[in-house]
Amino acid sequence: RGGADPLLKVEQALMQFGGLKALAGVDLTVRPGTIHGLIGPNGSGKSTMMNVLTGIYKPTAGSVTLARADGSTRLDGRTPSEIAASGVARTFQNVQLFREMTALENVLVGLHHSFRGNIFDAILGTPRRKREEREQRARAMSILDFVGLGSLAQVEARNLPYGKQRLLEIGRALALDPVLLLLDEPAAGLTAPDIAELTTIIRKIRDAGITVILIEHHMDVVMGLCDRVSVLDFGHKIAEGSAREVQQDPKVVEAYLGS
Ligand code: ADP
Ligand code: MG
Repeated sequence: RGGADPLLKVEQALMQFGGLKALAGVDLTVRPGTIHGLIGPNGSGKSTMMNVLTGIYKPTAGSVTLARADGSTRLDGRTPSEIAASGVARTFQNVQLFREMTALENVLVGLHHSFRGNIFDAILGTPRRKREEREQRARAMSILDFVGLGSLAQVEARNLPYGKQRLLEIGRALALDPVLLLLDEPAAGLTAPDIAELTTIIRKIRDAGITVILIEHHMDVVMGLCDRVSVLDFGHKIAEGSAREVQQDPKVVEAYLGS
């Protein structure tokens, strides 16, 4: 699965916090159209990698390159909003939503990044502005339908069940129209039926042409979804391959037993 040329290429990513190397020189290649798993014991550097990829952390050394149809872009050293604008969206390990806003409004916030109206339209409420607002709402509704929240559009985020909040976060990330979506432990704390629904939606996202990097602790989710898996341990990549290959790799078994 996936074309020959990588969509994302990380070379020798180093992330140092004082004396701790959360990433100790990690190479990572993600092919377009795949779900790429990133696994490893607690504290192995998975979330740090997400934060480096999205500009929350500036890597101490190394490079992150995103290949797009119109050429390659270096992402390291860019701000989170620049990286989001170049097509990389994410969800966080802990749910981060506007709790007092409805599901629809949360997605609209994501869409505003791509809003093309100008300041005069906004102030004057011109017909063009009104038309764009209608289009944005329609697009937000279609995203909510995609993640199975169409009937909950008017519910405040804080009143949604936890599993639905996680899906809403994914919807808000999709509003950025990403080429690459990063999911940090989306199944954490979910019930089995919620995990089944989440799994279906992640597969739909991949099938819609969006490449996914998935950090996940549930091995059955990783096995069921991931086209390829990279394994981190103490900031080093210790294994890579199909989900089945890495699951049977003695180095991986040892890393998990030692954790
Ligand atoms: P994982 O997501 O795999 O559980 P993290 O990437 O969150 O692991 O953390 C990797 C290591 O880096 C841990 O030892 C963690 O304590 C450390 N770490 C992560 N972020 C910071 C930070 N901002 N400051 C200091 N240490 C950090
Ligand atoms: Mg983490």
